[in-house]
Amino acid sequence: MTFDTNPSVRTRFFDTKIEFLRGVGPQKAALLNQELSIFTFGDLIQHYPFRHEDRTVFHQISSLNEQMPAAQIKGRLREMTTVGEGGKKRLVAYFSDGTGIMELVWFQSINWYEKSLRPNAEYIVYGKPVLFGGRWNITHPDIEMLTQENERGGFWQPIYPLTEKLRRKFVDSRAISKMMRSLLEISRAHIRETLPETLTQKYRLISKADALWHFHLPDSQKSLHQAQRRLKFEELFYNQFRLIKNKLLHKTEYPGLVFSKTHLVKEFYEHFLPFQLTNAQIRVLHEIREDLNTGKQMNRLLQGDVGSGKTIVAFISMLFALDNEAQACLMAPTEILADQHYQGLKKFADLLGVNIGKLTGSTKKKEREIIHKQLLDGTMQIIVGTHALIEDIVQFRNLGLCIIDEQHRFGVAQRAKLWAKNSRINPHMLVMTATPIPRTLAMTLYGDLDISAINELPAGRKPIKTVHRYDAHRLSVFGFLKEEIAKGRQVYMVYPLIEESEKMDLKDLMDGYESVSRAFPDVPLSILHGKMKAQDKDFEMGRFVRNETKIMVATTVIEVGVNVPNASVMVIENAERFGLSQLHQLRGRVGRGAEQSYCILITDYKISKDTKLRIETMCRTNDGFEIAEVDLQLRGPGDISGTQQSGLVDLLVANLAQDGEILKAARQSAEEILEKDPDLLEAVNQPIRLHLANLRKEETNWSRIS
Ligand code: ADP
Ligand code: MG
Repeated sequence: MTFDTNPSVRTRFFDTKIEFLRGVGPQKAALLNQELSIFTFGDLIQHYPFRHEDRTVFHQISSLNEQMPAAQIKGRLREMTTVGEGGKKRLVAYFSDGTGIMELVWFQSINWYEKSLRPNAEYIVYGKPVLFGGRWNITHPDIEMLTQENERGGFWQPIYPLTEKLRRKFVDSRAISKMMRSLLEISRAHIRETLPETLTQKYRLISKADALWHFHLPDSQKSLHQAQRRLKFEELFYNQFRLIKNKLLHKTEYPGLVFSKTHLVKEFYEHFLPFQLTNAQIRVLHEIREDLNTGKQMNRLLQGDVGSGKTIVAFISMLFALDNEAQACLMAPTEILADQHYQGLKKFADLLGVNIGKLTGSTKKKEREIIHKQLLDGTMQIIVGTHALIEDIVQFRNLGLCIIDEQHRFGVAQRAKLWAKNSRINPHMLVMTATPIPRTLAMTLYGDLDISAINELPAGRKPIKTVHRYDAHRLSVFGFLKEEIAKGRQVYMVYPLIEESEKMDLKDLMDGYESVSRAFPDVPLSILHGKMKAQDKDFEMGRFVRNETKIMVATTVIEVGVNVPNASVMVIENAERFGLSQLHQLRGRVGRGAEQSYCILITDYKISKDTKLRIETMCRTNDGFEIAEVDLQLRGPGDISGTQQSGLVDLLVANLAQDGEILKAARQSAEEILEKDPDLLEAVNQPIRLHLANLRKEETNWSRIS
């Protein structure tokens, strides 16, 4: 295989303005510019479909069934009538294929369809068949005149992202397909291979040119599948390649402080260790200690479920810094969390006489000045805080280790600001997260970091027992709560609160509160919701913390930052309305004391398949990593809580929920290549070099537009 090593050749062709494509013209071009930001040939060829419809076979009306997600039928249009009034007005067309008669129904654009559809003509229709009153119908089918071209079926129709305006101007997926065909026919010679032959051979990937062709114009499931596999691999390979390159850059370019002395660490281990560390904690501490001794800057992610014991790991890591005349800081996303970390760390710090402080937005001016001074002269060894820590005025004598607790990912810019707090040598970085994220997501989101996981809870912890109950069983649930309260325990009852239906939910909460007060006339209750004033919230929370009230009826505001070890029962109402990771987070509010804890998930009798899987998963396991995997499968990678993935990892073809195997192979390949040929000097790696240059060029173009 030969490669054109002159990128300008490729560039010139794909930079051609879209109006020069056969069948496009200035008007359509303007539409494509406006609606889809498609300006050039290159933009169009990279306008990828998000799914493909199976148009390979024709179904018969007599053999339809309700399990079919969609069916394609060839037949003749019979008469059409409009029925109903106002919002229910619809156009009904009868359609027959010799095996039966079905109805096609339109609620929108009735006039247009009435005018343009021709009774007695032959059409191909496509859509989800539904049985209604004993007859099959399809609402808003995709409909197209039968032509010599389409009557044989046999293809997969790509479905492209489009806008309403484009559809109104008849630029639909099929129209895009037509342009794509024109473009692909003239592009072939200009499409450069982007992967080295070593990889296409090893993983039996089809060429880039073939992949683009079959992705846009697949003629069989097999060719479509091969095209997808090739494009996914390429996308993930470059995603990983750049992350790993970055990571290696850090390891080679940035020196790190060497923390070899272990005076305080030893003292703490020998005299003050409050419990035996779990194997997972020990393993992670080894990994961190090794990093701190290499002379390279550490960039490590520490994952661990709530309660897995991250605090002591963070503390011991800080001691390494302190032992070597350096300081440590911990930055948390909120004041509440900063305060919790401070309380947790201070317990340990006091044992050793280590000077620890807390700096947040609400720290008083006078106190703030003292902290600034002590950080600068080095007498304050550990500082815990919020964003207040990255302000320019906060200066250290010798900052050696930064720990960032991420609920959502802090920006890279913020990490960089912390690095800059030591002008001689960048401090080591440890990023902690309490929201376990699936392996594939971690690889792409944090692929530039080394990853450690505490995947084991301290011994003797009683796993929370989780059960599912229907609304109808509420009385027996209340009976159980009475028993637990009689034993001295406290209870949370949580109601969902979703912004769109806030009023309804507040009513749910109030109704719930009413029924709880009736069922527990002698039990003092607290109530907590987002509409309350801050001081009322604090007051109610305070009563519950002091065990003056026994049941806390609340919306999800209790999710973050509450620690009441005596509360051992979590009841979640309308559990079907919570996502998996949110259920897991809520459940994490109990199980903090020595007693057996329970989580009771209450749902309606009728629940969807997905809800059932969520509930079953909760009942089966307490393992946050396992739960995160199921969550990813259920929701797709777009919306995993705590990561805000969209925008961070823009994947057009690959899907992190499904493509774990491809991701692994792509990552491994990127690692191997970077290890053997970091500067991409070998001939076989030239496609990578060229493609990276092209990617950079595209990104510059984009940054100019947006
Ligand atoms: P998180 O990972 O949620 O920050 P913490 O560090 O707050 O967890 O630990 C949760 C609780 O478990 C704390 O009370 C802590 O003292 C305790 N703990 C941590 N590690 C161990 C251990 N190895 N053995 C027993 N208890 C532990
Ligand atoms: Mg913690």
